[in-house]
Amino acid sequence: MKTLAKQVAPGGTIGIVGGGQLGRMLAMAAARLGLKTCIYNDAPDAPAFQVTPNVLVGAYDDLDALAGFAGRCDAVTFEFENLPAHAIAHLESRVAVRPGAHALAIAQDRLSEKSFIEKLGLKTAPFFEVSSAQQAREAFAQAGGKAILKTRRFGYDGKGQGKVASADDAAKVFEGFRAPAILEGFVDFAYEASVIAARGADGAFAAYDPPQNDHENHILRRSTVPSRLNAAQVEEAKAIARKIGDALDYVGVFAVELFVAADGALLVNEIAPRVHNTGHWTIEACQCSQFEQHIRAVAGWPLGAVERHADAVMENIIGAEADAWESLSKSGALHLYGKSEARIGRKMGHVTRLKPLTKA
Ligand code: AMP
Repeated sequence: MKTLAKQVAPGGTIGIVGGGQLGRMLAMAAARLGLKTCIYNDAPDAPAFQVTPNVLVGAYDDLDALAGFAGRCDAVTFEFENLPAHAIAHLESRVAVRPGAHALAIAQDRLSEKSFIEKLGLKTAPFFEVSSAQQAREAFAQAGGKAILKTRRFGYDGKGQGKVASADDAAKVFEGFRAPAILEGFVDFAYEASVIAARGADGAFAAYDPPQNDHENHILRRSTVPSRLNAAQVEEAKAIARKIGDALDYVGVFAVELFVAADGALLVNEIAPRVHNTGHWTIEACQCSQFEQHIRAVAGWPLGAVERHADAVMENIIGAEADAWESLSKSGALHLYGKSEARIGRKMGHVTRLKPLTKA
């Protein structure tokens, strides 16, 4: 068995599980630091495969293939969190995995995630475990009014969740899922924000300025910095992230999605144990982007500077919007992810527009 790498020097190899746009941007950031990447994906047409020659195709529960992957890497990380727990444990027995199995296990399951957040004394929407149609009805009655039913696992971009307005509704949506779920009271938030934070292997902590995030059809439309949060809320948001990162003994970049209530209270919606769509603006607006920061942490390097040197608006390019690539290329810093098929709702790229700094 290999000894677990503490620090990966230039020339070493970072393994990335998942070959989507996040893996692609991580690989590009690693290359700038003189690090190689090896990318593992379950299909051959991965956007990240276009930026490194060192790739492996295998199922996410293929333990032999994962062992072969681990053998090619000095440290391993993830660009998406829905890997089976036993596969993560298998990797962890062979190579340094950052963030580790514990953080991934908590963030993978909405019930353990919300329970963990609540135990830290942080605010969330009221939530209830739902394992049967009867429990769905009871949970709706307790939530009092509007609610959202979500599968505990494998949800993203609004998939695996549905609004419910009655006990019958709750039972019906649950029957449709055929999977363990949680019911959350509906939060009438003023707007959404997120904190992109990093924790180094040495416990060092750094957080970017929290962006404000606008969604359309459950998909992120844009992230804007500075947000409408005041200075005290910005500090509170960063403190929330620090508490979560410390409690998970986290290594790497993570995002904490927040609801900002009308009275200014910050409620935690979820933790993403990876780089995050709402942090893409850091590529242009900060010395060290979230992608470089994650690679630094995974490789055991010191964290980079997170200060923002410009205001920024990041807009996602979704589906057929990518056809306008030429005009988009004139409108700001264009990023296209190399996806051949522009399916409806698919994130094809993003564009970041900078303005002079108005608020440090
Ligand atoms: P999630 O998959 O939990 O990140 O939810 C996706 C989006 O649905 C969030 O960004 C919110 O816009 C909305 N949403 C999720 N949970 C709630 C809630 N409890 N109350 C109101 N809106 C919610």
